[in-house]
Amino acid sequence: SYRKGGYHAVRVADQFAGGRYIAQRKLGWGQFSTVWLAYDTHSSSYVALKIQKSAAEFVQAALHEINVLSSIGDGGPANSKCVVQLIEHFKHTGPNGQHLCMVLEFLGDSLLRLIKYNRYKGLPLNKVKEICKCILIGLDYLHRELGIIHTDLKPENILLFSTIDHSKDPCRSGLSPIIERPEGNINGGVTSLIEKRLKRRARRAVAKISLRDSLGGAGEAPKSARNIDGIDVRCKIVDFGNACWADKPLAEEIQTRQYRAPEVILKAGYSFSVDMWSFACIAFELATGDMLFTPKGGGQGFCEDEDHLALMMELLGKMPRKIAIAGAQSKDFFDRHGDLKRIRRLKFWPLDKLLIDRYKFSEKDAREFSEFLLPLFDFAPEKRPTAEQCLQHPWLNCLE
Ligand code: ATP
Ligand code: MG
Ligand code: MG
Repeated sequence: SYRKGGYHAVRVADQFAGGRYIAQRKLGWGQFSTVWLAYDTHSSSYVALKIQKSAAEFVQAALHEINVLSSIGDGGPANSKCVVQLIEHFKHTGPNGQHLCMVLEFLGDSLLRLIKYNRYKGLPLNKVKEICKCILIGLDYLHRELGIIHTDLKPENILLFSTIDHSKDPCRSGLSPIIERPEGNINGGVTSLIEKRLKRRARRAVAKISLRDSLGGAGEAPKSARNIDGIDVRCKIVDFGNACWADKPLAEEIQTRQYRAPEVILKAGYSFSVDMWSFACIAFELATGDMLFTPKGGGQGFCEDEDHLALMMELLGKMPRKIAIAGAQSKDFFDRHGDLKRIRRLKFWPLDKLLIDRYKFSEKDAREFSEFLLPLFDFAPEKRPTAEQCLQHPWLNCLE
């Protein structure tokens, strides 16, 4: 993808925006961009630099993302504290074309990394509650104040951040930022040696601003049982490339498979409540370490969509006929009685029982957690609680 129209190749110490930003280390990448940790020489702080691919469709997508992120910023820092902030944007010309670059506040590892770090065993419920609150504050702001639907909520798109402001204190890592490339012979072996040394140095510096650090914990994480108790966990929603205003839906097929709401599968129209469905899937995953719905397609005479609907109904009960047959795609999956066409026998396994049987929850924890989640999994989108209503729920507000 590092060709005309594709990614821009970056080397450590490369300069952007007339020398203001200096590339330190690659933080991640996606279908649209590579994201680099950069040192901002104006504010002496670290930022995340999202460098978009250069082909016209990616430029278009970046302009949309910038548009959404700008409206988020307009709400003022007080209201937007659980959503990533765009600092500025600019164009950068390289051998592969002209790339739109977004300068974002620098955040830590994703919730996916946190789940992995905890060895897929599920986080303590008090941590789950803290994270849920952050996500809900972000969603309430997006939904109620801005009218924006994220449409791609998943653990990967929620990043941790530290209560310690690393962006303002780069020296805390013990290593100062890389400002200049040392002189080297372009054609000889010297350059690659310098490159290696720079990479090693950047890795060391940034390792200290990753998971352990963004969790606020000092020192090495224990190798066996990883204890994240007693850590202040905060996070922010990122990746607004697919977000849209509720009155101007962009795409018909939205959301990542496992976090997709039933009305999206049925093509029955959607609104803010699709984010609430994904949110509930994330809460389950944080508490158990497992994805809630992992449909499999093909082979057995039914497709992934029908399997997905079957899994939903095994957990939540039968979808009301009126809802089942109301989507543009309904006829592919449901007969006129509202029964699935190809998956005839469902094995019901309600959520509280699942939590007790498979995840060894106590009866009390299982009951309380289910009471929080189940309304969010209402097949009728308009009946799902809003983020604002969720924030009032007793489950979130009683820490044990
Ligand atoms: P996608 O294919 O998921 O749409 P994308 O090209 O739009 O990808 P992002 O998902 O925004 O890119 O970012 C890619 C990765 O870069 C993220 O998964 C994350 O690891 C990292 N990243 C993004 N933004 C930040 C940030 N503000 N701070 C730290 N890391 C970030
Ligand atoms: Mg992403
Ligand atoms: Mg994206």
